[in-house]
Amino acid sequence: MAISKFQAMLACKCPRCRKGNIFTNSGFHIKFGRRANVYCPVCNLRFEREPGFFEGGMYFNYALNVAILTTSGVATYVLLHDPGPFVYFGISAGMVVLFVSFTSRLSKSMMLHLFGDVSYDPDFQNKYKNRL
Ligand SMILES: [Zn+2]
Repeated sequence: MAISKFQAMLACKCPRCRKGNIFTNSGFHIKFGRRANVYCPVCNLRFEREPGFFEGGMYFNYALNVAILTTSGVATYVLLHDPGPFVYFGISAGMVVLFVSFTSRLSKSMMLHLFGDVSYDPDFQNKYKNRL
């Protein structure tokens, strides 16, 4: 059963086959958690659509980090009843560092799915048989 585009984006799956992993390792891998495959291991799609393509993902990364900072700031205000500025800074910085692997992977996946100019093609094996 095929997964939706949103599910594929969250799971960091290939936008064309939605089966192959964009990244080589799990997001919990400290050293290589953000290393992307060059080609999809299932359909052989080249993930970096053009040189420097994933650099556009920093805009998504920025938006995700703003969301994390806003959420952690509001949660700190509500749960700790407006503590001092160093508590805000410590908790916000901790949350950004805690989620850095998640946000960087998701931002690359969002860039590939939304601006990669690749559409879902469950019949990719018949079309690209000669290239595989
Ligand atoms: Zn693929």
